[in-house]
Amino acid sequence: MTVSDLNVVVVGAGIGGVAAAIALAQAGATVRVLERAAKFEDVGAGLQISANGRKALVALGVVDGGAHPAATLSTGTVFRDGAKGRHVTQIPPPAAGPTWYMHRADLLGLLVKRAQALSVAFEFEVIAAPGSIQADLIVAADGARSHWRADMDCESTPYFTGHVAWRALIPWNGQGGTASAVVSMGRAAHVVSYPLRGGSVMNVVAIEERTDWTQEGWRVAGDPTEFQDRFSQFGGVVGNMIAETHEVNIWALHARPVAQRWSRDRSVLLGDAAHPTLPFMAQGACLALEDAVVLGATLSASRDVEAALAQYQALRQDRARQVVGLADGNAWRFHLAKPLAWGAQAVLTLGAGALARRLEWVYGYDATLAVP
Ligand SMILES: Cc1cc2nc3c(=O)[nH]c(=O)nc-3n(C[C@H](O)[C@H](O)[C@H](O)COP(=O)(O)OP(=O)(O)OC[C@H]3O[C@@H](n4cnc5c(N)ncnc54)[C@H](O)[C@@H]3O)c2cc1C
Repeated sequence: MTVSDLNVVVVGAGIGGVAAAIALAQAGATVRVLERAAKFEDVGAGLQISANGRKALVALGVVDGGAHPAATLSTGTVFRDGAKGRHVTQIPPPAAGPTWYMHRADLLGLLVKRAQALSVAFEFEVIAAPGSIQADLIVAADGARSHWRADMDCESTPYFTGHVAWRALIPWNGQGGTASAVVSMGRAAHVVSYPLRGGSVMNVVAIEERTDWTQEGWRVAGDPTEFQDRFSQFGGVVGNMIAETHEVNIWALHARPVAQRWSRDRSVLLGDAAHPTLPFMAQGACLALEDAVVLGATLSASRDVEAALAQYQALRQDRARQVVGLADGNAWRFHLAKPLAWGAQAVLTLGAGALARRLEWVYGYDATLAVP
């Protein structure tokens, strides 16, 4: 059976699911996407799409590789001391190319437009479950709490990491399509900020260590006054941003090891369903885009669907483990209490160039070359 003979059902119309639908439709399959929400979720805030994610978007025909009006081009990452806003160091854009800062809804919109141009069908308000769908292939892109993963790899359940993310979009007076991300490092907390939509909005993600909040989701509203109180240690520009926040969302970060088993029979996991990650490397969506390209390539290269799914897992699992592991490590790196924080900052100061080189394997990955 070739890929063009396949009737594929993708479960989940998030970044991963829509990217997978595009990859398989491009390869010739007939694709239907089932989504439990009533419409495309225009939720979320900023996403950093690094060079590896951008290469996948080009391969999917979503963008052409040049500048894009929906993306702010990164000039690097600046690390600042949280209390005073003092500049600590700057990491230049990776050798693989600059990162894009995008609103999640804008990225999803571009993916959906491309999928629709390839005749992918979308059905909403369908809560799919293992056993309830007939298809030649089911791609389970149903997120970190995947039902399919529970069905094929029941060795772990998500656990609360003790990190809570506050997310806000603040009206901003930025100019132009380029900017740096700023990481402000505090005591048991850090704040990442970067502009979106031509600098008209500032995306703020503030992470704190805490044990009394465990609710997940893009839509959970937080209390701005509580946000300001909890992050009162932050000064400088980021302190002003926090003070100007009138609406904020809150998300308890959960983790779960990368799945041991990614496929069974004709079902396969993709994106957060296979490898949820803490956001500290900003790679979850990028990994999902890479998965989609590699899955499309393995299915195109083989007439044996199950062998293609096994090859997909073999090509993706170690990379996902390595990137997720790096994100886990950054959780403590940004939050050291003084005087250790100063030590960490000194290492960053002395080693920014070396750090950038050490991360080249993350950003230099090209999913289009994965299948020999
Ligand atoms: C605070 C934060 C910041 C982040 N920042 C970045 C970043 O800068 N860069 C980056 O690359 N990544 C980032 N990420 C990670 C990124 O958002 C996720 O990894 C990515 O969105 C996962 O996409 P997905 O499609 O796999 O899953 P999801 O986005 O979770 O999509 C799953 C979809 O499946 C649907 N669904 C679930 N169950 C069913 C069912 N039974 N039937 C039908 N539909 C179903 C859901 O409604 C949903 O639409 C961040 C994450 C967080 C929390």
